[in-house]
Amino acid sequence: MGSILIKNGLLVTMDRERRIIEDGGILVEDRKISKIGKMSEFSGVRADEEIDAKGCVVMPGLICSHTHLYGMLLRGAPLFAKIKPPTDFMQNLQWIWWPVDEALTHDDAYASALVGCLEFLKTGTTLFADTYSGPNSIEGVLDRIGEAVERIGIRGFISFEATERHSREEGERGVKECIRYIEKVGDKGRVRGMLCLHASFTVSDDLLKLVREKANELKVPITMHTSEGLVDVYHNLERYGKRTVERLRDVGFLGRDVVLAHCVHLNDDELKILAETGTNVAHNPMSNMLNAVGVAAIPKMIDMGIRVGLGNDGYIFDGFENIRAAYLLHKVHYRDPRMMTPLQVLEMATIKGAELYGVDEEVGSLEVGKLADIIIIKPDVLPTPLNAETVYGHLVNTVDGDDVQTVIVDGRILMRDRKVLTVDEDEVEAIAQRSAERLWDRLKEVKPELDRIR
Ligand SMILES: [Zn+2]
Repeated sequence: MGSILIKNGLLVTMDRERRIIEDGGILVEDRKISKIGKMSEFSGVRADEEIDAKGCVVMPGLICSHTHLYGMLLRGAPLFAKIKPPTDFMQNLQWIWWPVDEALTHDDAYASALVGCLEFLKTGTTLFADTYSGPNSIEGVLDRIGEAVERIGIRGFISFEATERHSREEGERGVKECIRYIEKVGDKGRVRGMLCLHASFTVSDDLLKLVREKANELKVPITMHTSEGLVDVYHNLERYGKRTVERLRDVGFLGRDVVLAHCVHLNDDELKILAETGTNVAHNPMSNMLNAVGVAAIPKMIDMGIRVGLGNDGYIFDGFENIRAAYLLHKVHYRDPRMMTPLQVLEMATIKGAELYGVDEEVGSLEVGKLADIIIIKPDVLPTPLNAETVYGHLVNTVDGDDVQTVIVDGRILMRDRKVLTVDEDEVEAIAQRSAERLWDRLKEVKPELDRIR
């Protein structure tokens, strides 16, 4: 692979000192960043490819800490217009998400992963953590998703979301699919496997323990939805006499390698348990707003030293929109404009995301020795000066995903001047649209009122 020299950029490194370098350069050799600094230190440096980043922000690729690529196939879906709108989170699952995931096929998994990764690439996300759910498309599905991620060229942790909502056997099959894929791809490549459980109200203690044991053995992250809606809290209090995080702690499930998505309905005792066990949180502000589940206590978590990353939960894939939502939501919730600084949300979307999944030695910041996952951004309209002092503000308030011009992953240019180099975009969209039409057709037969609580 040839070397790349990025010149004259405003570098937002997100390194340990959170350095911002004006008129900076980055040299990429053999997949990694080999030199970073002021352009004055680059005299005589040449590379196979040179990119002039004058007037641009150069930063690490965004990291999406929680997504469902199959969510792409529901954009604008008309099929639920005929049902009453769900009134709470549980009805949302029963009436929408569960009928959908039961109708998904391996081809849908591939199509949605392809188009999801395309949107990630075009809006600057270079690493994501995906959980696929589909009780009728379990075995082999991670190969199809992995194939799509490989084609686009970005980086991903992928998993099957094991659930026992129909049977014990279904849960074990889900875990087995993850293990099969983890063992197949290993822990060095761009696409890796992880373990995943749906949520505390659809899994038994036995399955929690099994997944914990396998994660220790395989040394991979585990992710699970946690107290997204109140159903987790009621379920665990009623069945186990404990709050959600207390139950997870008591079965020995929590730890540094666990990423809990949402954590909206946790009390202070539960937050303390997360801090003590080093358990991580993936915050999904836009999805939480859409599903009207409430607001997670993110500023408090950060104050307590809990690592928090930023996810989209399969809803809006432009990471800059999610950054803006995380920036604003806590201000209005607490009626305090000091809540969440631009730097805090940018950390959540980059280096913290890497820490969540234990890959912060590899990606998440621009530093010598790290893999070259780099995005170059040129704001469409720039009303005020762009410099070291203003750049965090611009990234949160001015920039959209469409402003991302060039994306490098693993030292390879995947998009240059907004032209995607790895796939034919029209072809990807056609594959996804065909898949969505067929899925929507199948869903016409579904009875949304079907009770799926066990
Ligand atoms: Zn989710």
